[in-house]
Amino acid sequence: MVVPPPVTDAITHLAVLTAQRDRELLDVSLAQGVLDLLSVTSVGVYRLIGCEDEPRHWLCSGLARQGALTVSDPAWVALDTLPLLEAYPLRQSAVASRLLQHGELDAGSADAAMRFVTVLPLQVEVGQPGVLEICSAQPLTPEALRPIQTLLKVFGNFQNLLETSQRDALTGLLNRQTFDAAFFKASMPVAADSLLLDQGERRASAATGYWIGVVDIDHFKLVNDGFGHLIGDEVLVLLARIMRQSFRHYDRLYRFGGEEFVVLLRGGDAADAQRAFDRFRVNVEQYPFPQIKTVTVSVGFTEVQHKDTPSVAFSRADRGVYVAKAQGRNRVLFFESLLSTGVLKTEDAHIGDVELF
Ligand code: GH3
Ligand code: MG
Ligand code: MG
Repeated sequence: MVVPPPVTDAITHLAVLTAQRDRELLDVSLAQGVLDLLSVTSVGVYRLIGCEDEPRHWLCSGLARQGALTVSDPAWVALDTLPLLEAYPLRQSAVASRLLQHGELDAGSADAAMRFVTVLPLQVEVGQPGVLEICSAQPLTPEALRPIQTLLKVFGNFQNLLETSQRDALTGLLNRQTFDAAFFKASMPVAADSLLLDQGERRASAATGYWIGVVDIDHFKLVNDGFGHLIGDEVLVLLARIMRQSFRHYDRLYRFGGEEFVVLLRGGDAADAQRAFDRFRVNVEQYPFPQIKTVTVSVGFTEVQHKDTPSVAFSRADRGVYVAKAQGRNRVLFFESLLSTGVLKTEDAHIGDVELF
């Protein structure tokens, strides 16, 4: 029999939950809270990611009583290796009905400690939908689940607040204010690198494997002047949608303001990054925008270095945009290769040194 937790414990977990400002840590706090409050075997927070018609389960935070190690799918996992929504019917029903689901596995086939499965939908209005899955040796009674449902309500409200404050209202992309924190996470050296640096063995490259791309719509003023601001805004919304479809689920997409967008791309080499940005550029060029028909973008990108600050890396990529505009627009330029080919003189080259038009 799983007994309900004392009220004071539940309140402590609410306090821990609402102290979080990081969405990923919020999921970990939720799983930890449930595991602490109930004597159950394991707790998992899953989100649905991928395209809308083929969503997949992504484990954001998994905790088990034995071992007590937090596990999660890596943020950069290949989407097609994750299970499809229908692979787990209880989770699928919880998401579709937005109601709690109970399941009982065959006594013979299942691990006795994981025999009872309870799935509760996350109460999120903004951001990725998901579920909380609890496995236990005994069925969970309504009394035991009541404080968990309260915790989930607070979690949902709080996540909605966090999401709303971190996203641009028009496009739903991340806003500029959240960029610095994500950037510093990306540019932080991993432990092995720090060790090498401590020993004075400086690596030849301080590259992080992250790339920043700055995207600027070509002749957007003409769109506004010719078709009006409402159509202009619709172009921004559609462009954000094309961005989501063009990049991977773990790349971070921002609207920095106006018609300027930023992508924080993870992994690969310069050629991979060039291909990713070009794929996006071509997707925009080929998209049939209502009325205007064709819209193009200019993109500049650069590799994030360990010692970069967000504004320094941004301005390198932005210089790529200026050169792209000068060379005729609708192209993707890599800042470092503009330097190596002499198009830009030095890393300190001023934008004013480039002939723009
Ligand atoms: P370029 O190819 O050189 O980038 O030309 P451009 O016309 O896109 O560039 P410019 O910076 O001269 O103009 C940007 C225009 O973007 C100015 C303004 O009309 C428009 N704009 C900025 N923010 C918004 C917005 O939120 N909504 C709409 N509809 N238009 C915006
Ligand atoms: Mg602009
Ligand atoms: Mg523009």
